[in-house]
Amino acid sequence: MRLSTITNWAYGATVALTLVSGTTMLLASDAQREERAAVAQRHGLDQATANLERDIFALTDHARQYLNTGDETYLVLYRGDIGALASIEDRIRHVRDAGASVQELTLLKDAMRWADTLHDEQQAALAAHQRGDEAGARRILFGGEYERELDRAVTLVERFQDQLDQRTDAEVVEAGRVAQLWRTTSEIVLGLTGLLFLAVLYFIFKRRVLRPVVRLSDVVNRLAAQDFAVEPPAYGEIDEIGDMAQAIRIFRENGLERQRLEEERAADRAVRDLLSRMTQRMQGCDTLLDLKEVVQRFVPEIAPEFAGRLYLVDPARNAVVEACDWLNPVHSSPEFSPLSCWAMRRGLAHRPAGEAIDVPCDHLDRGDGPVLDTLCLPLTAHRKTLGLLYFELRAASGRGTPDVYLSMLAENVSLALANLRLRDTLREMAMADPLTGLANRRQLDGMMEALLADAERLGQPISCLMVDIDHFKRFNDAFGHEAGDTVLREVGAVLRHATREEGHAFRYGGEEFLLVMPGFDAERAAERAEDIRQRIAALDVTHHGGDLGPVTASLGVATAPIQCTMDRLIQSADAAVYRAKALGRDRVISATARKIVA
Ligand code: GH3
Ligand code: MG
Ligand code: MG
Repeated sequence: MRLSTITNWAYGATVALTLVSGTTMLLASDAQREERAAVAQRHGLDQATANLERDIFALTDHARQYLNTGDETYLVLYRGDIGALASIEDRIRHVRDAGASVQELTLLKDAMRWADTLHDEQQAALAAHQRGDEAGARRILFGGEYERELDRAVTLVERFQDQLDQRTDAEVVEAGRVAQLWRTTSEIVLGLTGLLFLAVLYFIFKRRVLRPVVRLSDVVNRLAAQDFAVEPPAYGEIDEIGDMAQAIRIFRENGLERQRLEEERAADRAVRDLLSRMTQRMQGCDTLLDLKEVVQRFVPEIAPEFAGRLYLVDPARNAVVEACDWLNPVHSSPEFSPLSCWAMRRGLAHRPAGEAIDVPCDHLDRGDGPVLDTLCLPLTAHRKTLGLLYFELRAASGRGTPDVYLSMLAENVSLALANLRLRDTLREMAMADPLTGLANRRQLDGMMEALLADAERLGQPISCLMVDIDHFKRFNDAFGHEAGDTVLREVGAVLRHATREEGHAFRYGGEEFLLVMPGFDAERAAERAEDIRQRIAALDVTHHGGDLGPVTASLGVATAPIQCTMDRLIQSADAAVYRAKALGRDRVISATARKIVA
């Protein structure tokens, strides 16, 4: 019930009770007045009839004393009494006016009639006395008849007074009872009014207003301090305070919702920041090793509820092979065929558990239990599948990272992988000679220092073979530039074969090649050089079906640190070639000894 309704009811009840109380007080006062009137009436009636009996006796006495003594004084007194009797009639009138009942008045009139009869007898006796009939007068006034009449008159007067007493007594008692009743009623109603007022005060102000307001004000203060953990009191009443409590509850719910949204936004921002930082780091990756490190560092932060693994496609083995993992994934094999994964097959994300029913991948260990909550995201770039990003939900965690971020993650890793591959290809292109497929001069410059340093550190010899095709210009001149290129390719293949297991072959420039053989002493190097020379000489090079004739090469061999210092290794080999040319070509010359193999 609303406070205003309660208040109105309480006011109404208080006013009604006050009115009832006032009325009962008026009635009580009325009853008191009636009680007083009853007492006054009784007093009036008492007074009106008090001397009646005495006057009847006084008349008889004065008449009798006059007869006995002849004293005129008694006659005067008697006459006075008669006047008094006359006033008794007046009193009867007064008695009637004072409210005596008909029955009482009948009794009084009967008594007065007998008093009249006595009066007649007294008159007759006095008349007989004046006539001198003393005996007649005495017979009348002292006779038995007169005594009986006197008794009857007195008895009637007494009965009248008894009845009057009884009635007025009852009236006074009744008036007193009614007055007392109204007084009590009035006091009770007054008490009830007071109690109601106190109850209203206690109930409305203390229980329904003060207490809830104090609690609500505490809640409001805490809400104002952004403490949304505070629970608004459960206030079931439908009243103004209830409205306030409801408004505060809505305010708190809005605050909580706002806080939740802010937290979501902050978490969202944090994930986006992580993603962007991860992308930046991935752009700076030079090698796959760098990329794995970045993935292992960032992915568990972006999606902490998932353990996972990065797989890369190995085209040589036609397999998907683990590159790195995080948070110990247990359900997926470290290596599997691309056909074992639905995501790899379809080129789309695949999650077998969840809202839609789906088939689990073959690379997962499938027990009899429920379908594992896993997610496979294919890593594709430029329409080529480069690998797979695999996630599995950890046992004690709820799923939180939105799928869209996981997709962004996969996209970023794909792009980084594609960039790395592109970079490798470019590097290979920059480092390799496109004609022969051998490493070029630039790569030689990059490697030479390290190779020399290694040899020095290990205390091993290192040999260098310079190969220069003899009269190469002639092939160009005789068969065209393309034919020359064919010769270069064939010689390059011989050199690549020669260094397949040991050493490095470079195209040094034009028709000159350089072989670096770490660990080769002078003798072994010369042997290998001779072998190469023979293989070149044995080449049967054709171009567009035409035989290009014999191909020979001159080879200079130098071995450090025996024949020269490390830093002069290439120059020494070059000088040896120069000497080989001078000595007639198609031969191997070592830096120290001139060795001619025909
Ligand atoms: P020598 O026996 O003294 O080494 O004589 P040569 O003809 O082999 O030596 P020379 O230095 O006179 O000639 C080298 C020629 O190789 C000159 C150049 O036109 C040619 N050449 C350089 N690079 C290429 C190439 O990539 N392809 C072709 N077809 N020819 C090339
Ligand atoms: Mg040359
Ligand atoms: Mg040459």
